[in-house]
Amino acid sequence: MKRVVLIAETTILFSTQAEVVRYRKCLAAQAADSALGVNVTTPNALVEELWEVWGSGERLVSDTQRRLIIKQLLAEQSDWVDSPGTAELLVRFLREYLCEVDEAFLCAHESDLTPSDWDIVCFIKKYKEALVQAQLIEPVQALEQLASCVQLGSIIVRTQDELPIYYRSFLAAVAKEVRIEQAQIEASPRGGDGASSTTGEEVSSKEYVLLKPAGSSVRAFMIDQAIRAGGAGTRIVVTSPNPVVACDLLKHSLCAQGYTVMLDAQKTFRETLFGQAYCALAGIANDQAQLSYNELVEAALLYLNSPYAQIPPSQAERLASAFRSDRSITREDIHAALASSKNFGVFESLFEDTEGGIVLSYFEGLIHSLDLDEAQKVAERAAIARLKQLYFDAADLGVDAYELVPLAERISVPYGYSIAQAEEGSALVEAEKIPSFLEDDRAGMPCILFTTFEQASALPKHSCDQVVLTELNNESYSGKIHRSTLSDFLERYSLPFEDHTIETLEARFKRVCALACMQVVFEYERYDRNGESCYPAFFLETFMNERALAGCPVEVREAGEEAFDSASRLSLQPVELEAEMPAERGVLNAEDRMHLLTYEQDKEGIERLVVSPSAIETYRSCPYKWFVERKLRLDDEGEAFGGREIGAFVHGVFQRFYEAWALQGYDRVTPETLSLAQELLASVFEEYADEQKSMQPGDRLIAVSELERQELEQLKSKLLANLSFQQNLFKDFHVRSHEYAIRAEDKVTYGGAIINGRIDRVDVDDKGNFIVIDYKGSIAKYAAGFDPDALDEEESFESPEKIQALIYAQALRRKEGLQPKAALYLSYSAKNEQALMRGSLAQTLIESETLSRASCVKGNFESFLDLVEEDIARTIERMESGDLAPDPRTKEACTYCPVLYCEKRANGS
Ligand code: SF4
Repeated sequence: MKRVVLIAETTILFSTQAEVVRYRKCLAAQAADSALGVNVTTPNALVEELWEVWGSGERLVSDTQRRLIIKQLLAEQSDWVDSPGTAELLVRFLREYLCEVDEAFLCAHESDLTPSDWDIVCFIKKYKEALVQAQLIEPVQALEQLASCVQLGSIIVRTQDELPIYYRSFLAAVAKEVRIEQAQIEASPRGGDGASSTTGEEVSSKEYVLLKPAGSSVRAFMIDQAIRAGGAGTRIVVTSPNPVVACDLLKHSLCAQGYTVMLDAQKTFRETLFGQAYCALAGIANDQAQLSYNELVEAALLYLNSPYAQIPPSQAERLASAFRSDRSITREDIHAALASSKNFGVFESLFEDTEGGIVLSYFEGLIHSLDLDEAQKVAERAAIARLKQLYFDAADLGVDAYELVPLAERISVPYGYSIAQAEEGSALVEAEKIPSFLEDDRAGMPCILFTTFEQASALPKHSCDQVVLTELNNESYSGKIHRSTLSDFLERYSLPFEDHTIETLEARFKRVCALACMQVVFEYERYDRNGESCYPAFFLETFMNERALAGCPVEVREAGEEAFDSASRLSLQPVELEAEMPAERGVLNAEDRMHLLTYEQDKEGIERLVVSPSAIETYRSCPYKWFVERKLRLDDEGEAFGGREIGAFVHGVFQRFYEAWALQGYDRVTPETLSLAQELLASVFEEYADEQKSMQPGDRLIAVSELERQELEQLKSKLLANLSFQQNLFKDFHVRSHEYAIRAEDKVTYGGAIINGRIDRVDVDDKGNFIVIDYKGSIAKYAAGFDPDALDEEESFESPEKIQALIYAQALRRKEGLQPKAALYLSYSAKNEQALMRGSLAQTLIESETLSRASCVKGNFESFLDLVEEDIARTIERMESGDLAPDPRTKEACTYCPVLYCEKRANGS
């Protein structure tokens, strides 16, 4: 017989505890005794209350315990991939559908089940057994039991999302009546003289604006402007998929305008400092983790810089530089180097045994001594407390400590603060303790809350003047329904399956829009970082179409990156958005000039700039790019397996090969000697590759993964083929030298400067003619022929884009008095003889199909070099003047430029 449970005559269900508290306060404010007989709670809390009294003794399984059991069961089987994705699918499936696959189901479908269906059924069986063993019970099982023994009064459902099917069935079976009501409550009228008191008139005249910034730097500017232009609004809500980032971007400007800025967000475990150190060390301490070199170094650097590691900065810097500059370093080496540091052992014990969880108290104690603000400390404490609980649950369920890392990564903790500027120009300070955005009115003081779309949708209707919904793109809010083997299983056997993703997002969007009394601002970027078009979230698109059809379209404001001067920050004063604001031309300051420009006296005692042809070429392609690359010393970023290292390796192989070839009495490769030459090249390649590890870290090439080893093998094949392409080249010429140095001491002047650099290769003939050759990976756009007759009288000569080899040819001509015949680039990746070389060569040398006509220089080759020098002298002059303007010669200049946010960046790069 059913028993009536008198929790209350009426139970009102809200999604979150925050909404419950808010509603209770509302009831208390409106009529002191109206709360009598009403139980306001969440769906989960109601199950707990009922189970507490009428349950059969097992504990309700927590989300952590559920994940731990699933993790353990996944590790014991081989039918499914043991991945976070599989675990996530199983979590939802078991939480909602566990009771559907019971004895009755098996009786009805036993003969229809496929082998993969049996895998699902067996997994469910094992999961149920694991629950019994741990004396746990799923809420869905608990409700099934409770349905037979309790009855409830009226239930009012005001949850943000639809309740799961099993919960709705339970309520339908036990409640006297179930009513679905509007999830969003109405804000209580606010006092003060702010513009926020809601009237029907204000709401009906609500404005809608859509911001469409071209990219991310102008985005913050547009949002800031929209808030400034928002009218007399004193209370604003800004939503973002990542409110921490949005708040960081805008808080200084907003505080300067007199707003109190509040953040109500979450940090993932990896976003907390403790989580970063823990996850980084998990990869280093686990010998099964199999991290690549880059992942290992990234993890080591994260750990070294963590305040929890307590490693002195000088030691951390030394170790970081040692790790970055040595690709041959192994996990064991990094482990050994870190092992002696202060807290390494304490951290490591966390991965040895779940009992190690007790050392987390040590880190909790450390927090108070860290240089963090109060909000950060609260988040750090919460992260460690959640991890501690995970360890305790894991110890109960017998899960290994190493298995906990992916589960720890799922932890998220509340992170929030409230700041204001005490007086104009002063630093931001923690605002006096404010209970919440909703409760703090303080006579209309302006206040902005940054939060997520989900959290904002749980706020009461009309609780602010303006709401700004940022990043409303279809990536952040896709509404995609996730199908899987498990959902197919449910549908095939006509088990109740629902996916409310689309309806949920639509309902949230409506509730967030309903927060504002005066203005709703939407925002999404038109292009992503790669220049690809972005599209609005589906619900925004629908809303825009509906408004347009109704004859009241939303006002659209657009701005491109060119509208935002990259040198400016968000202005602290209101400013007008201008359509075009040319970037200020940068000028080299005295300090940088000293570091970046070197001067020496030439043979006549005149002070001249000392410069390499590669620096001239980069500067000419864009002065600001040259400055940033030199200033940041991007070449010093550590050892890699990239173009720079491969190029240096190829230079070394060719140099060694031609030296050894000369010792055997040959100075060029011919069809008769090709196979012998290839044999020699292969052994030189092998030897040189083996030597790399013992070389000083720097430009060496070390393959640390299978993929890289395969790449190295492919490189060998390419060079062997390359040798065969070289056999027919310039038959009268032979290799004279590799890595030919033109030093500053040689005082070779060019275009007013002293040249300093190395020529990859010089080939000569017996008549005193020479060819300069530069080795490159790709030479697609290197052809630089010239026809003096094609030049108009009016037209001034302009050098080709690639000028290094041309500068070297002129410098060598000047240094040795030889006659230049060509300045060429040889591609070591060429696929055939025709693709082997590009550049500039005298017409008299066009002897075969090997070089395209596009590389032919008609007329006198030496006059051509003189013309180039005259032109490049202007570039050198500009460099000496200190001009650092972002000024790309071609859009290719921007393609590999490290300056990410540049107002002059050529489109599409
Ligand atoms: S992005 Fe283009 S214009 Fe800007 S600094 Fe780089 S190369 Fe120059």
